Amino acid sequence: MRTLSPMTANPTAPSEASSTFPAAQPPATPTAARRLLLVHAHPDDEVIGTGATMAGYAAEGAHVTLVTCTAGEEGEILVPELAHLAADREDRLAEVRVVELANAMTALGVDDHRFLGGFGRYRDSGMMGTPANDKPRAFWNAGVDEAAGHLVAVVREIRPQVLVTYDENGGYGHPDHIQAHRVAMRAAELAADPAYAPELGPAWEITKIYWSAVPKSVLAEGIRMMKEAGDTSGFLAVDSVDDLPFGTDDALVTTCIDGSAYMRNKREGMHAYPTQISMEEGFFALSNAIGLEFMSHEYFQIVKGVAERSDAEFEKDLFAGIAPADGTAQV
Ligand SMILES: [Zn+2]
Repeated sequence: MRTLSPMTANPTAPSEASSTFPAAQPPATPTAARRLLLVHAHPDDEVIGTGATMAGYAAEGAHVTLVTCTAGEEGEILVPELAHLAADREDRLAEVRVVELANAMTALGVDDHRFLGGFGRYRDSGMMGTPANDKPRAFWNAGVDEAAGHLVAVVREIRPQVLVTYDENGGYGHPDHIQAHRVAMRAAELAADPAYAPELGPAWEITKIYWSAVPKSVLAEGIRMMKEAGDTSGFLAVDSVDDLPFGTDDALVTTCIDGSAYMRNKREGMHAYPTQISMEEGFFALSNAIGLEFMSHEYFQIVKGVAERSDAEFEKDLFAGIAPADGTAQV
């Protein structure tokens, strides 16, 4: 893994290390039978919410494509020495987060990553109601159809059978997460329409679409365990799951990927974000220590296609029910 260094973080100027050891280039048209596309808002969202799933499918030979909508310019910075890069100072956090993201992809074994519309096209909009919402390039202000067009190009190139993104509330109400949801859902629709932008390639219909989810029962168990461990500082320091701004009703959650075998990759991926994620203290450190299930099990709600499961059980595979031929039918 490359070490974190803002000096070599300029994405337009490859570092010496990367020119000596060029990153593997994904094939123009992936040949893997199973192709998974994930659309996330900021660097680090992919590893926290879906890191084990990404690592697992990549290890099994699926083509995993991550599209990140913004570079996370407005994030808080947990590394004091890098505090000068903050949005209200030098505004250079993106340079670090792009390197962190590359390191996380290495940890997850995923080699196909893109920024929506290219690096720097859309800017982190900051938390809802903050002045960052109105900055030029803020993703929150992008036209949904315009932004979706960039994603349609990726969908028609990769031809994924499965798309993973957020629910209508973006999971927890962050403007960029809400916008990522809107853009991903619109792109899925447009990509399947042969009349839309034929220059971007033949129409492609995604078979299954999932929204990331954390079941309320799992959150409730998390609250119980965190309290038992004496932690009252994290975001689970509430009395009830209903006091949290996120969580999905259990009845809506259809699918669970048991990522236990890939927790090493997920942890390493989280370690790749020192400016964003503390693994030494706070919520993730403790959840790591007490083995909270929502670190190793990643949950989803199917919203297009059919979950292959019996009533009492979760579907265990995002590709379940998809025949290998589904990947070639529309070439
Ligand atoms: Zn985010």
